[in-house]
Amino acid sequence: MRLLLVEDNVALADTLCTVFKGAGYAVDWRTDGRDAEILGGQEPYDLCVLDLGLPGRGGLDVLKNWRAVGIDLPVLVLTARGSWSERIDGLRAGADDYLPKPFHHEELLLRLQVLVRRSHGREPQSVLRAAGLELDESTQHVVAGASLPIALSAAEFKLLRYFMLNAGKLLSKGKLADHMYEYETERDSNVIEVQVNHLRRKLGRGAIETRRGQGYLLVGVTP
Ligand code: CA
Repeated sequence: MRLLLVEDNVALADTLCTVFKGAGYAVDWRTDGRDAEILGGQEPYDLCVLDLGLPGRGGLDVLKNWRAVGIDLPVLVLTARGSWSERIDGLRAGADDYLPKPFHHEELLLRLQVLVRRSHGREPQSVLRAAGLELDESTQHVVAGASLPIALSAAEFKLLRYFMLNAGKLLSKGKLADHMYEYETERDSNVIEVQVNHLRRKLGRGAIETRRGQGYLLVGVTP
């Protein structure tokens, strides 16, 4: 999952980058509203966490401009504590959720998880289920059929979560790379291949099928 963080408070943004990366998000961080608006229009983000008071262009205008051109990226707006008018304005401008500052990181992560699930048409239960697999996002363990919980590396977790949210879809290496890596990262499709093989070793060889020249399909396990 790729996340765009737009926040001009450097200390807060630093902390949030660490928290988001720990939760398996590839994070791009911008402090300026204009930069963020352009990037949000270019890159296939899965989520955006948007502050309102920003240099360059205010968060509300960024959001309105995105919605005006049909960018339906799920956006969580960070508002000033107890400011109901900011909340209303944010929702009117097309925000999917909001959180007043200061907030607990865990609450923010849970709200983001709900937004991701909703944007993929999933119920926001604590465990993500697809293709006979159960993924616990808080512990980053997977249960495959009747197996015991299997620990995943950070990269395996990132990849498997994306596969499970898009279960039943054929995913090209390019698409996977688009949603796994940060903006500045060099895209190496061999890395995806290596990680897919790591997942097969843990879940069973048939869990992910390769379709020649097209990509991968999560088959999972039969329960
Ligand atoms: Ca600010």
